[in-house]
Amino acid sequence: MIDVSERLEEVNWIPRPKILALRRLGIETVEDLLTHFPRRHEDRSEFPRFPREERDVPVCLCGEVIKTSLRRFGGWKKIFEATLQESHANALSEPLVCRWFNLHYVQKMIATGQRIVVFGKPRLRGKRICMDHPEFEVIENDEEISIHFRRITPIYPATEGLSQRVLRSMVYQLLNEIAAASARFETLLPRGLINGNVTRAAAIRAIHFPESWEQRDSAHQHLVLSEFFAMQMLIASRRADASVRTGQTHCGPGALLERFLKSLPFELTGAQRKVIGEIRRDLAAAHPMNRLLQGDVGSGKTVVAIAAMLLAVEAGYQAGFMAPTQILAEQHYDVLRRWLEPLGVRLALRTAARREESGPLPLFTDVEKPCFVRVRGGSAPVSGAGAVVSTARTSHPQGDHEESSSPPDATTYMRDAYAPQSDASIASATYQIIVGTHALLYESVSFSNLGLAVIDEQHKFGVAQRARLTAREPPPDVLVMTATPIPRTLTMTIYGDLDVSIIDEMPRNRGKIITAVRDESKLGEVITFLRGQLERGRQLYVIYPLIDESEKLDVKAAAAEYEVWRERLHSFRCELLHGRIPAPEKQEIMERFRRGDTNALISTTVLEVGVDVPNATVMLIENAERFGLAQLHQLRGRIGRGEHKSFCILLTSVQAKEASEKLAVLEKTGNGFEVAEADWELRGPGDLLGTAQSGLPALKIGNLKTDAHLMQSARAAAMSIFQADPRLESSENQRFRRLIVEQHGRTFSNVS
Ligand code: ADP
Ligand code: MG
Repeated sequence: MIDVSERLEEVNWIPRPKILALRRLGIETVEDLLTHFPRRHEDRSEFPRFPREERDVPVCLCGEVIKTSLRRFGGWKKIFEATLQESHANALSEPLVCRWFNLHYVQKMIATGQRIVVFGKPRLRGKRICMDHPEFEVIENDEEISIHFRRITPIYPATEGLSQRVLRSMVYQLLNEIAAASARFETLLPRGLINGNVTRAAAIRAIHFPESWEQRDSAHQHLVLSEFFAMQMLIASRRADASVRTGQTHCGPGALLERFLKSLPFELTGAQRKVIGEIRRDLAAAHPMNRLLQGDVGSGKTVVAIAAMLLAVEAGYQAGFMAPTQILAEQHYDVLRRWLEPLGVRLALRTAARREESGPLPLFTDVEKPCFVRVRGGSAPVSGAGAVVSTARTSHPQGDHEESSSPPDATTYMRDAYAPQSDASIASATYQIIVGTHALLYESVSFSNLGLAVIDEQHKFGVAQRARLTAREPPPDVLVMTATPIPRTLTMTIYGDLDVSIIDEMPRNRGKIITAVRDESKLGEVITFLRGQLERGRQLYVIYPLIDESEKLDVKAAAAEYEVWRERLHSFRCELLHGRIPAPEKQEIMERFRRGDTNALISTTVLEVGVDVPNATVMLIENAERFGLAQLHQLRGRIGRGEHKSFCILLTSVQAKEASEKLAVLEKTGNGFEVAEADWELRGPGDLLGTAQSGLPALKIGNLKTDAHLMQSARAAAMSIFQADPRLESSENQRFRRLIVEQHGRTFSNVS
C-alpha cells in the first residue's frame, strides 16, 4: 500500500541513482514528487506541420532523423546537427535542422532512423530552417507513446541527472499506484474557495496529465489557491498570535508631541496627521503594534516616526530608531538632535561602523568634535566602570522642560561609544531615544525599557530580524517604514502580518521634479545645463554606473570617473563618494555637501536612501538603463526637497535602446506606486524583494503577479476563519492547525 507521505526509498521500483538526483531537488517523499509541478505543458495530441519560415513563438514538432553530422570549428568547439523530416512528407515539406553547440551528450542520444520530438523556435539560417538547442525527446517504443505523446504533455523544470521522460514516467506510475491504493490527498481548501467539486487528488493528477486545457486550468487554479491559502493561514495565525499577546500601552498623554509639532517650521500634511492617529491608537492599545508605514520618498516619514517615539518617551519608555546604514543613522541622529534637543529629550547614537573599520576608539579625542560623550550639567549618568565623561557645559539655553518626564538638565549625546560601559548606559534608561543601525539588534546592547522600535527602510530588513524584536518580553511596539512603494499583492504576502498605514500625500512646499531621458550624445548640452544650475547656486548629484555597492568596487575606475567630472565642472567644487570610503570620512564629505561647501557630489548609489539636502536640486544619472525603475525613483527622491524646481536627467546610450524605453515611465509619473507597478511588470517581484526575506515558504506553483486575484480570495478566506475562531479551536478547523505548524517549521528554519 502506498501512501503520499512515504519516502521514495520505500517505493521499490525507483532506482537508487534517481532517488539521489531527486533528493538534490529537495524531493524526498511521494508527495514531494507529485507536487513537483510541470513548468509548462505541450500539446502533443497532434503535431503541426514543419514550418517553412521562422517563428517568434516556440513550436513542438515530431519527425524522423534522416541525417546527423558533427562539425568542429575553432579547435575544440563542436556543432552537432540532426536533420529531421516530418511524417507524411510531401513535395513542399522542408526538413528541419536541429543544432547543438558543444553538448557532447546530445550526439550520443540521437541517431538516424529515430523519431524525436523537439521544442523551440524555428529560425531561418541561410536557406535552412533551423532550431538551435531545442528541448528534445527520443520516442523509444510505442508503449511509451501513451505517457509522453498523443496528449497534453507536462514539461518539468530541467534537472541534472533526470530526463523529462524519466521524471514523467515516474510521476505517471506513482499517480496510478496512488489511485489504485485510493491513498488520500487531503483537500485543504475550504468549500468557499473550491471551484466545482475538484479534489486535491484530482487536481494533482490533472496538473500532470490533463485531459484538456480547461482541466489543466482548473487544476492549476485549485493548486495555486491551496498554496496561497496555506500561506495566508500562516500569516493570519501570526497576526492572531500578536493580537492575543498582551503587551503594555506605550502612549503618553501627548503634551510632548504637541510641543514638538508646534516647534516645526511647517504644518503636517493631512496624510501625516492621519497616520500619526493610527499609530497613536496602536500605542495606546495593550497588544503590541506591528505596523508598516509606506510613504514615497520625501513624503515625511521621519516626522511621523518622531511623533510616535515622543508618545512612547512621554509614557516613560525608550524608543529605538534603526536605519540600514551608518550614514543614515547619523543623519537621522542629527535631525532628531536638532528637533528634540530643545525639548529636553535625551538621545544617543550608536552604530557599528567604528568597530568594523578601526576597532573601538578612545572615547575622547577632542571636546569640540561630536565624537565624544557629552553630558550637560551635573552628574554623569553614562559613567560606568572606567568610563570617561566630559562634564563640559554646552551653551544651550535652558528651555522649559517641565513637561518632559525626565530631569531637564541632562541632554546627553553619545557617539562612537563602543566600550562596554556604554552598553550599560544604554540599558540604564539614561537615553530616551537611541538611534542606530540595524546592528543594534544583534549587539549586546539591550534596551532596559524598550517601548517602541522604529525601523527605517524596511525592505532591507527581513521578517526574521523583525521576529527578534517582537519576541522580546515584554513585547515592544514595532513600526517599520519603507519608501519603496510595494504593489498590493506583495504587501498582502510579504508584509501580510502587518497593519499598513500609507502616506499618500506630499508636503505642499515641494518643488517639482522634472525628469528627462537624454542620449549620451547630448552630454555637451547636458553639461552646459548643469553648469547653469550650479551658477545659480544649486547643488548637483552625479550618480555613476556602479549598480550595487556590494559589487566589487573598482576604486581606480571611480577615481577616473571623478577626474572626468571635475574637469567638466571645473571651477566648481566636486567630491567623490562611494561605499569603500571609510565611514568617518564619508560623513565629513556629506557634511561639507550639506553645508554647501561642495557644489557637486559624484557618487555611487550609496546615496540611495534618506539623504536630505534641500538645495541639491539637480541629479544626473549615468547609464540609467542599468538601474531598475524603482531604484531610479528612490535616487531621484534625493532632489525635489526644497522650494526650487528640480531636474533629474537620465543619461542612456543608443545601444541600450530597448532598456532605455522603460525609462519613459519616469518621465511620465512621479508617483512611486505607479513606478513600482511598472517596475514589477518589467522585472517580476523577485527583483523587488528577496523571497527569503519574507520568511514565507517559497511558492511552488503560484505566481504573485499573474495569480494576484487568487491571493485576494485566499487572504479573505483565511482572515474570516481566524476572525471566527482565533485559536482554531472548533473541530472543523483542526485540519488547518497541522498546516500552520508544518509551514512554521519550514519557514523559520529557512530564514534564521
Ligand atoms: P522620507 O519620507 O523620505 O523619509 P523625510 O521624513 O526625510 O522623508 O522628509 C523629507 C523632508 O520634508 C524633510 O526635510 C522634512 O523636514 C520635510 N517635511 C516633512 N514633513 C513636512 C511637511 N508636512 N511640510 C513640509 N516639509 C515637510
Ligand atoms: Mg526617510
